[in-house]
Amino acid sequence: MSFSSDIKDELIKIENMPPCCTHAMAYGMLLFGRSFSLGDISLMTDNESVAEKYLSLADRACNISAELNVSPAGKYTAFFDGDENRKKVLSVFSCTGTERTLRIDRGNLTNDAADNDENTSCCDAAFLRGVFLSCGTASDPNKSYHLEFVVSYKTLSLDLMKLLNDYGIKAKHMVRRYVNVIYIKDSESIEELLTMMGAHISAMEIMNIKIYKDVRNLTNRRNNFENANLSRTVFASFDQVSAIRKLKSDGVFSVLPDDLKQIATLRIDNPDASLREIGEMCEPKMSRSAVNHRLKKLMSISENPEKEEEKIDEQ
Ligand SMILES: [Zn+2]
Repeated sequence: MSFSSDIKDELIKIENMPPCCTHAMAYGMLLFGRSFSLGDISLMTDNESVAEKYLSLADRACNISAELNVSPAGKYTAFFDGDENRKKVLSVFSCTGTERTLRIDRGNLTNDAADNDENTSCCDAAFLRGVFLSCGTASDPNKSYHLEFVVSYKTLSLDLMKLLNDYGIKAKHMVRRYVNVIYIKDSESIEELLTMMGAHISAMEIMNIKIYKDVRNLTNRRNNFENANLSRTVFASFDQVSAIRKLKSDGVFSVLPDDLKQIATLRIDNPDASLREIGEMCEPKMSRSAVNHRLKKLMSISENPEKEEEKIDEQ
């Protein structure tokens, strides 16, 4: 099962809608089907339950039975047979079929049963539910956040975008292979829309995936940080070991004070050890900063041995 069909399953199961919402959902489904005109009112889908929902909504909202065809390839086409039937369906939604462009007529979204405590108007939510069933899809949120509506008519697609934007949902418009696509990439907007439509389980799934991804990113970031720290230690140790080798080959090592000799020997023998660990190995034990100070001193002597030799001689 894809994430899209999970969402659709959830939406189809929503029952006991008030009459205003049944009207609005049927309007969304029919208007955003394959065609909504005098010549053809139909929906084509791979999803049998979606096709059945089209039939039952048409029956309840328009009191007209739609027909259902199944192709050998498993495509379902729900449609209204006969001009008279189509004329009646159009009139239920205050359309004549002679409109020059298809638009969302918000007069069909009466929001009669809207709960005053809720921000979402009942029929707007039901309408979007119908629209999603007809032309919506969503990507698997494990892979990407993407929800879209594929719409044949530009003005209709822009009306849909406007309605979504009115609810603060960040929907955008693009044209892909001559069809209009209203899409949402923002994960919070997708969650909001799913919640609004009533697909609460799917919305929750996105939230859970986000939490999981956040934790994983945090772990990765911490590992990267630790690795970066480790490589800093390794590079520093490499420089120190080279400096000490140079002191030996220059013949300076033998004249160094004992505490520097001790640190130099421990560093050569333990190139992976941290400064704190070297301090622990010293006799007597030394602090991290004391070790650091002596290693810096060794490096500076190796860079400029003559100057340091004089100083050592003076001591
Ligand atoms: Zn309503």
